[in-house]
Amino acid sequence: MSGAEREQAVLDQVPTDLYIGGEWRAATGGGTLPVEDPATEQTLVEVADGQVDDALAALAAAADAQAAWAASAPRERGEILRRAYEAIVAQTDELALLMTLEMGKALAESRAEIAYAAEFFRWFSEEAVRVHGRYMVNTTGAGRILTLRQPVGPCVFVTPWNFPTAMGTRKIAPAIAAGCTMVVKPAQQTPLSMLALARILERAGLPAGVLNVITARHSGAVIEPLLRDRRTRKLSFTGSTEVGRTLIRQSAEQVLRVSMELGGNAPFLVFEDADLDAAVEGAMTAKMRNVGEACTAANRFHVHESVAEEFAARMVERMGALRVGRGTESDVDVGPLIDSAQRATVAELVEDAVQRGARLALGGGQGAGALPGSGYFYEPTVLADVPDDARVLAEEIFGPVAPIATFSTEAQALDAANRTEYGLVAYVYTRDLSRALRVCEGIETGMVGLNQGIVSNPAAPFGGVKQSGFGREGGFEGISEYLETKYVAVGL
Ligand code: NAD
Repeated sequence: MSGAEREQAVLDQVPTDLYIGGEWRAATGGGTLPVEDPATEQTLVEVADGQVDDALAALAAAADAQAAWAASAPRERGEILRRAYEAIVAQTDELALLMTLEMGKALAESRAEIAYAAEFFRWFSEEAVRVHGRYMVNTTGAGRILTLRQPVGPCVFVTPWNFPTAMGTRKIAPAIAAGCTMVVKPAQQTPLSMLALARILERAGLPAGVLNVITARHSGAVIEPLLRDRRTRKLSFTGSTEVGRTLIRQSAEQVLRVSMELGGNAPFLVFEDADLDAAVEGAMTAKMRNVGEACTAANRFHVHESVAEEFAARMVERMGALRVGRGTESDVDVGPLIDSAQRATVAELVEDAVQRGARLALGGGQGAGALPGSGYFYEPTVLADVPDDARVLAEEIFGPVAPIATFSTEAQALDAANRTEYGLVAYVYTRDLSRALRVCEGIETGMVGLNQGIVSNPAAPFGGVKQSGFGREGGFEGISEYLETKYVAVGL
């Protein structure tokens, strides 16, 4: 089969309807929305454009399924997750190709996301059977304290385009394990990966109504009524801080339980005592994973002045060697950005930095490797000597741009790291144990990569502080987001 035939075969298999109450159905009114390949700007396929009535039907299905699902055997829930895990792993090649087609990143990266996404199913298949409360003698000796942990109830999930599968499985897996039902709305740019996942869960035996998927052109229009509906008990959102704020406001009316995985602006600190080889390796991962379109992407490099020049030179060499092109091609490292708006934002941040005095050490263009006349490509770019007031240090870049600034003292480095409203992750490279612990304690983020350029791990609690949000996904903590604690005061 040729490459084009394989692509078509994968697209032909993916469902394009809404998934509501165990049935695949067209949107009310029959409307559709196009899904674009960001490497060619061509429409891949059309999916259902869900309307408010469809969203409410999905919530009704979730609400109807809730009681029976909460009463189901934890082992059964775990085994559905386990079967889905096996199915995802078995279909890695097809799922990765589908993801690359709609999101753009290179196939190797899509495969890595599929493995990461699947692992949430395996992890929470194991957690489903470990939910427990406690039985305790009251401190006075009279009476007992009993605590139960029960599913929160029907959830609404809204996910972004940058990790189309993993940002879903981080919510879906613990919700299934805990006994919650859900309505999921994937990003309009990348609905196909979520629809393929729903089909896998359906075939793994997930009962009708537990998972419902709504694709829609107008996100706000379909989500707001769900947040104002009494049947909804929880919202979990991954996306920008700006949209997160709006959804927190909308959730306030019903005092919904809310989890927010929002934007980031990760500082990457390289101290003078760092292992520079390891730091460059980590920097490449932290910067270039997902074409730089990750909430965890190293947004700014703060490097001690004594090693900054060498660090910048090595980054230029490594970034310059990356091949830009359509993610489906086997030798491509860097795919396109998601859309023209994202590319314009990246270009604007680079221009602003250069105008303020930064040195363009590599890249800065939009052409390298691009297919003629199409695709939202942006060259891997290195900016050196970036001044403090450059917007690129303060705003989320979401592109393959590495701005490098310098510092002289540890206090200055920590101050620069914390000078942001975001607090998702920071990366710290040093071989001095005392300094490592001091900086880890002083940094205002939910996660730290210490001598490591990647933190994402289904076995660890992922999440931020400050305006990067609240709540944790993954780890032992992840299932708690979907459980309420009930206390029973037992008189004897
Ligand atoms: P976005 O906020 O624009 O969109 C996220 C989702 O919200 C999409 O499904 C979108 O359709 C939906 N949405 C948009 N407006 C809405 C509204 N008014 N009401 C309801 N839903 C609405 O973000 P994006 O551009 O898709 O993703 C990139 C952002 O996500 C970045 O800021 C990134 O840092 C963040 N992100 C955070 C994490 C994390 O775990 N903290 C992970 C991945 C991405």
